[in-house]
Amino acid sequence: MTRHAEIAGAGFAGLTVAIALRQRGWTARVHESSPELRAFGAGIFIWENGLRVLRTLGAYEDVIHGAHEAPGYEGRNADNERISFEVFGPQRGTRMLTMTRQHLYKAMLAAADRAGVEIVTRSEVVSADPQGSLTTSDGRVWPADVVIGADGVTSKVRKSLGLIPVVTPCDFGVIRLLVPREKNDLPFTESDNVINFWSPNFRILYVPCNENELYLAMGARDSDKSATAIPVRADIWAAAFPFLKHIIQRIGQQGRYDTYETSLLDHWTIGRIALIGDSAHAMPPTLGQGAGCAMMNGLSIAHHICNADDVTKALSDWEHSERELTDHTQDIAKRYAATHAGRNGVSKWDDAALRAAHHLPSGTVEAA
Ligand code: FAD
Repeated sequence: MTRHAEIAGAGFAGLTVAIALRQRGWTARVHESSPELRAFGAGIFIWENGLRVLRTLGAYEDVIHGAHEAPGYEGRNADNERISFEVFGPQRGTRMLTMTRQHLYKAMLAAADRAGVEIVTRSEVVSADPQGSLTTSDGRVWPADVVIGADGVTSKVRKSLGLIPVVTPCDFGVIRLLVPREKNDLPFTESDNVINFWSPNFRILYVPCNENELYLAMGARDSDKSATAIPVRADIWAAAFPFLKHIIQRIGQQGRYDTYETSLLDHWTIGRIALIGDSAHAMPPTLGQGAGCAMMNGLSIAHHICNADDVTKALSDWEHSERELTDHTQDIAKRYAATHAGRNGVSKWDDAALRAAHHLPSGTVEAA
């Protein structure tokens, strides 16, 4: 008999598990509270682990066409001196691709459509039952063999189960936005590079996404209400990075400011329910792996449960075998966030930081 999953949240985690289960013969329905399917947050980094998942989901070709692979990753200080330089690619065991979130999301939605995933918008999940059901705000109960809580960092599924994460907030936040990209935007270096510009108090991560769009992630202390204001205070940011003034002036009224946190749960599974993505393991963006881990866990859960006679045990086995890598990645991301906030730091892409990027996620062809 065909088995069925009900999934809360059509983010990167929810879409991944839905597609992967459909590919394995299950039916899958995703409830999305928003009225429309959209990805927020401007740009995103996807590493080799995420690309492997996307290939398995059938979204890889759509993703790489229209994404950007930077020749290098630079760190620069407030005097615009280069303080670090790294190259990713086959020689490092991982590519580092950058793209707009909407580009990635669109490719995943197309894969979901091809796989026959059902997505219901304006459907807000309010609770879940470990016996195997979701309840939506209209009072409907949706029974399932497996229920997935992929409803993000403020997860209602998690709350309804009484699961309380240990949350470590960060004192830094980020304004994220896209601006038009122009050729030779950075006459002092290679404009195709990803560049982390640091001043004593601020950071601008300059991220080409494609030929025409540039993602800026502008970090400042959460307590600095001027620097974190929307609309962006171009005067403050251009004073910190005068050599980026021409780009900062393109921002206009747009932008979105978010803080971030690490949240740790004792258990990701209860009965027939599993939590994945930010509902289970939110992390600071210092390694660019939050969505990467969400996608790995979305695929691996489908791989673990698809043929299991005892789904409850399979979920628990999944957590046991897969969780350590996410815990490790969260831990490093948290430590980087704590030590880099507001300092003249350089990300250190050592083996520990790149462990998730190098991973062959369970359920991919490569891992078979
Ligand atoms: P979400 O993306 O939050 O999706 C949850 C979905 O559930 C949403 O569509 C929401 O509308 C819906 N929803 C919420 N509540 C309900 C409900 N009650 N009922 C139904 N639907 C509901 N990760 C990377 O891999 N690379 C990066 O470069 C990167 N950069 C980042 C930069 C910043 C500043 C931040 C804050 C995060 C970054 N991340 C990055 C992390 C990444 O964005 C998240 O880990 C990822 O989006 C989590 O996906 P998700 O599907 O779990 O949650």
